[in-house]
Parts: sequence; structure tokens; C-alpha cells
Amino acid sequence: MKILITGGAGFIGSHLCRRLLNDGHNVICVDNCITGSKNNIEELLYNTNFKFIEFDISESLYIKGELDWVLHFASIASPKHYLGYPIKTLKSGLLGTHNCLGIAKHKKAKFFLASTSEVYGDPLIHPQIEEYWGNVNSVGVRGCYDESKRAAEALAYAYMRQHDLNVRVARIFNTYGPNMHPDDGRVVSNFIVQGLHGKDITIFGDGSQSRSFCYVDDLIEGIIRLMDIDYQMPINLGNPSEFSISELANLVLKLTNSKSKIKYSDLPEDDPRQRQPDIKKAIQMLHWEPKVILEDGLKETIEYFKLTT
Ligand code: UDP
Repeated sequence: MKILITGGAGFIGSHLCRRLLNDGHNVICVDNCITGSKNNIEELLYNTNFKFIEFDISESLYIKGELDWVLHFASIASPKHYLGYPIKTLKSGLLGTHNCLGIAKHKKAKFFLASTSEVYGDPLIHPQIEEYWGNVNSVGVRGCYDESKRAAEALAYAYMRQHDLNVRVARIFNTYGPNMHPDDGRVVSNFIVQGLHGKDITIFGDGSQSRSFCYVDDLIEGIIRLMDIDYQMPINLGNPSEFSISELANLVLKLTNSKSKIKYSDLPEDDPRQRQPDIKKAIQMLHWEPKVILEDGLKETIEYFKLTT
């Protein structure tokens, strides 16, 4: 198949490019390299089935020839960065999604949206099922990300209903692994880089808030399976094993064999208290479940950061 992927030089996008090429597909990767990096796709640049276009998908893009899929993975996705670039974040969710949908419609291709657990906001039900409508503060600091992804979903379903476009929506929960940027700002990469370099481990709040962490290889398998079935409603993809941020900090300290101290600071505004995907739908529809336990995934990620930082 011929597949266009936006955000292909990003953390998840670069793993997806690699997997799609290995599966024998032709991949056109579009990335503006704001949070993505060419380093993530360096060896792919020599593959004749791979084409890289440095471009911001919030502008309209013309692609020559046929396409089977448009996968929209471009977005600033880390709170640290979307707090710094709220307008760019909104533009990739709104204009970027609109442009991708336009390309998909024009090419009669299928459309895949990388959505997020953030559509549930600070959830009032636990674990989060796909039918939950969420608890999002539209005018809060995370609103730029949460609301642009919620609007991106609405746009996808508008194209499905009005233009009969074939869509997939994956709500991706916290994911970690190699190719995360050391300065990404998310909790796993922060703690590992801090642990490896003997710097203070920065816990925001008292560390009792929770997240459920999925290793990137598991996530990629879930995405591929979702492309393979004909199911158009949103599906949660994530690992349901839930950890408090303090538990994560202690595990990283142990695995990096670090003498770093823990330093507590204020919890950022609107930081969700807890998060855990209900993945019954993914189990049933995709016959998919994450396999990599946190300790093993962290060891792989630590090795990556040892080599790159
Ligand atoms: N966090 C933290 N220290 C850090 C980075 C993040 O304690 O250096 C906390 C953050 O406040 C949140 C959780 O870890 O409660 C996950 O944050 P992250 O930015 O990874 O993603 P989120 O799930 O909030 O989008």
C-alpha cells in the first residue's frame, strides 16, 4: 500500500514508518520537525520505498499519485511543549486534520487519526471507556491539545458521515520507549534522563497521581491491527497497568542504579489525577493486549537514553 503519515519523524510516527516499511509498504513521511527529529528516521532515508517531506501539515499539501491511507500523527503531544506552543498545537489538530481529511477524500484513501486519552480530560470515571464523553476544561492550559484532538475526532466523523470516508480513531494513552526526545518533558523520559545523569527526579505534586504506561512496540502492533479491521469508532490503545508517579520514580531510580534525589514541585494546572484505559474493545476487536511490562520497557528505554544522552 502507499501510505502518507504526518508526524512520521516523531516518537510514535518514526516507529510506525519503520514497521510499515518492514511490512512492505510505500511510506511518505511528512514532518515539520518541531518536536520530531530527522535522527529518528535517519536510516529510513536510504530506503527507496520511503520519502521524507519536511512540511507543516497545518498548511495545505499536494501529494502526487494514489494513496491508500492517510495517517495523521502530527502533533505536539507533550504538555511541556503544547503549553509553550498552544496555537501550533491547535493548528495541527484542527487545520492539520482538515488538510489530511481533504487529502484522504481526494485520493479515496482511508484516514487514521492518532487521538489521545486527553479527550477524557481529568476523568470522572475510571478506567476510561470509549463511551465516556470526558471532563475537559476548554479554557484551561491543556485545552489547546485536548480540544483540538476532540475537534479532530469530530472532523473525522463529519467526513465519515458526509463523504463516506473510511476512518479509524485510536485514543492513545501514555506511551514511552526509544526515540522519545530527551527534552520531551514527559514523565518517563524526564525521570530516565535525570536518573542517568544524577540530576534531581522532578515529581510534580505529591506523586500520588497515576498514569498507565504502554511500551511503544505494543502500541504500534495495536495501530497496525486497527488498520487491518473495518471498525470506525474510537478505540483505546494503552496498557492498563496503572502506576503512581512516585512508583514510577522509584522504579526508574532502581533500574538506572541512580543516586538522584527526588524533588517535589507544584502540580501543573489541570493535571489529570488518574488515567487508565479500559481496553476491552481492543481485546475484543483487535485481539490485542500489551505484552511488555513496565520494568522491561523501561530497561529498553534506559539503554536508548544511555546511548543518546
Ligand atoms: N510529571 C512529573 N514530573 C515530570 C514530568 C511529569 O511528576 O518531570 C507528572 C505530570 O505532572 C503528570 C504525569 O507525570 O501527572 C504524566 O505527565 P506527562 O507529561 O508524561 O503526560 P500527561 O499524562 O500528563 O499528558
